Amino acid sequence: MNELVVVGGGPAGMAAADAAVRLGVRVTLVDSAPRLGGQIYRQSLLSPGEGGSPASSRKRSLPARFRSIESGQVELILGASVWSASRVPSGFTLRVNPMSGGEGKTLNAKAIVLATGASELALPFPGWELPGVSTAGAAQALLKSQGVLVGHRVLVAGSGPLLLPVAASLAHSGAKVVGVVEACSPYRDPLKFARISAYPSKVLEALGYLRHLAIHRVPVLMGSALVRCDGEGRVQHASVARLDKDWHPIAGSERTFEVDAVCTSFGFVPRLELCRQLGLDDSCDDIHPGATALHDTSMAASVPGVFVAGELTGIAGAVVAELEGRLAGNAAASYLGRSKAARTAGDQATTIGKLRRAMSFADLLGQIYTLQPGWMTWPNNDTLVCRCEDVSWGTVRRAAESGAMKVQAVRGLTRCGMGYCQGRTCGPAVVSLVAALTGARLSQVGDLDSRPVMMPVALGEVAKVDELRDPEAPPEG
Ligand SMILES: Cc1cc2nc3c(=O)[nH]c(=O)nc-3n(C[C@H](O)[C@H](O)[C@H](O)COP(=O)(O)OP(=O)(O)OC[C@H]3O[C@@H](n4cnc5c(N)ncnc54)[C@H](O)[C@@H]3O)c2cc1C
Repeated sequence: MNELVVVGGGPAGMAAADAAVRLGVRVTLVDSAPRLGGQIYRQSLLSPGEGGSPASSRKRSLPARFRSIESGQVELILGASVWSASRVPSGFTLRVNPMSGGEGKTLNAKAIVLATGASELALPFPGWELPGVSTAGAAQALLKSQGVLVGHRVLVAGSGPLLLPVAASLAHSGAKVVGVVEACSPYRDPLKFARISAYPSKVLEALGYLRHLAIHRVPVLMGSALVRCDGEGRVQHASVARLDKDWHPIAGSERTFEVDAVCTSFGFVPRLELCRQLGLDDSCDDIHPGATALHDTSMAASVPGVFVAGELTGIAGAVVAELEGRLAGNAAASYLGRSKAARTAGDQATTIGKLRRAMSFADLLGQIYTLQPGWMTWPNNDTLVCRCEDVSWGTVRRAAESGAMKVQAVRGLTRCGMGYCQGRTCGPAVVSLVAALTGARLSQVGDLDSRPVMMPVALGEVAKVDELRDPEAPPEG
């Protein structure tokens, strides 16, 4: 029996593991990636001297404060995914499968910290399924871990704070970035943008990226969107239009860029699968698609013994993720009876104070980068929304118009969200469309986030799990 299992090795999971270990807890940390770091501290998988772009030769290592995790104090299970989690009388059972295939294993734990991060929010538009079109996070991950550029002439488009660092690192690594296209515009909402000045370090960070882009002569188009990609066999042209305040393209404003790659990103959606499997409470805010795990100030979730931290509690960036991870690690240690009460209480109070300030910046970003409904006019009826099952925007629209009021009903009628990605990619778009067509709020139409099997896994592994057996099935043999 493990004492504490942490799922996720990003800033939230590493901070939780570090805090709990310092309080004397035996910690096991599981991450699907072969190295620790999560998205922001993703480490290179290249050996010294291996190829890749010039920037990839820079060694990426973890910040020093996380080194204890790699020094043997935490049992690490890397390159393996937790694909199922359940409650048992003694605590929790997690099923873990190596990403490279092979025999899975079962971990039992008295307490768990879930720090599984977020998926990228991709919105559909004509041509988004062409080879050469990826998410900005995928382009960044490819560059950080493998030193590979997504293309030589790249357009970065979407909305949110990830666009600038991704464009800057692509340009720095040798790509010709033909433009950064951001749907929000400071000219439309100057007061909100002006409030960023209350966070000087963030302003300096943004100016650093903009300076970098200026050096590489990368145009930054605000209040515009990538509305179509075309090409023979792969993306060759990207059409960009100016937007009105609701994000409807302005007629006659289109211009076309020659590209061999396009990266898009509209923010992130928390990865709630394990939370749902364990029956944790979550909530949806009606503004942004995707629910967030609920917790108290110590990061304890609604089920005793489960703690949550990082992006799955709300999209707020790496600083918040790390602070929440520390709180969760301390609280888990306390739950396990290991806390040195006075020190932990002092720690918790300081961390909560820092967290409030970091959260206020995240809230401001959330207000600035709010999706506007006009994006739903970018796809046409033939645009595929579920690329796994080839379900078009028009098919989803017809299902909702013919009376499917819930996303699960639309899935049943159209098969959208039933493919390999299990609705991770199309889910937020389908939720938004169904809500818009039925006049309901986002929180009223359901979602595709409840998956009994979190990751693709061999059927033999599923067959070993009693809770997933069909009670009606005939006995084996
Ligand atoms: C694709 C992508 C790219 C991003 N790039 C950047 C960037 O360049 N700069 C930036 O500031 N922010 C970036 N972000 C935002 C970033 O997620 C946060 O700022 C920060 O990393 C959040 O920390 P976290 O610990 O909550 O999650 P993450 O850092 O995402 O860590 C979550 C970890 O959980 C693991 N995991 C998830 N599910 C399982 C499972 N079932 N079993 C085992 N392991 C699991 C993942 O492999 C991952 O390592 C990116 C986000 C995404 C989704």
